[in-house]
Amino acid sequence: MSLYRDTGVVLRVQKLGEADRIITLLTRRHGKVRAVAKGVRRTTSRFGARLEPFGHVDVQFHTGRTLDVVTQVQTLDAFGAGLVGDYSRYTAACAVLETADRLTLDEGEPALRLYLLVVGALRALSGRERDPSLVLDAFLLRAMAFAGWAPALAECARCGLPGPHGSFSVPAGGSVCAGCRPAGSARPAGETLRLLDALLHGDWETAEAVGQPARREGSGLVAAHLQWHMERQLRSLPLVERRAAATGGRRPVEHAATGDRTPSADMV
Ligand SMILES: [Zn+2]
Repeated sequence: MSLYRDTGVVLRVQKLGEADRIITLLTRRHGKVRAVAKGVRRTTSRFGARLEPFGHVDVQFHTGRTLDVVTQVQTLDAFGAGLVGDYSRYTAACAVLETADRLTLDEGEPALRLYLLVVGALRALSGRERDPSLVLDAFLLRAMAFAGWAPALAECARCGLPGPHGSFSVPAGGSVCAGCRPAGSARPAGETLRLLDALLHGDWETAEAVGQPARREGSGLVAAHLQWHMERQLRSLPLVERRAAATGGRRPVEHAATGDRTPSADMV
């Protein structure tokens, strides 16, 4: 009998048969792991409640022929408790889990950096100190950096000319200089690009000094860039509450993340 231990965050649970579940975890050392938790849907289960989405757990697995089997679980952080009852934090946390799931296509491939980003984002969201929209955008920017396609923010995405530049093109890869600017590029406020750069680098003092219009515009650029590269819609994003329409005008998140449409012209 082969056993191994790891710490991980529960990304997803699926029913299996009468009483079992398949648990998808993003672990510190083994990347994404799908494992069977037997009997967890029975009320007498020893560890059913610990294996819910958002749970940060220490798990012992028994290596199985097809799927591994969970044999022990200890809770490290019950992040779900800090998310219940707060719709914007809950939906932001759902988007974190779903993005992490989609960025780790291959099970067993180490993803330590992404695991740390997920734990950090869930801790910040359940801690209720920071704007959940900013926490989500910081996570998404860093997750895109993990995947190798973070938007260029401080230099031109095409020629590398140091910025800041006034245009942003998702297909081109981020901010673009006047010479490289494709037709239909967005013209975000300078403050918006400074916000995204601050979020990418964890400069919360700068990020939290930025007002709502730039936060909304930044969220729209992040969502459009993410969607372009994922080529699949992130189901959770349209649910994320962005305090929309406080100042009227464009609604970049909704444009970027709704339906199967490509990002609207002003976003690309
Ligand atoms: Zn250029």
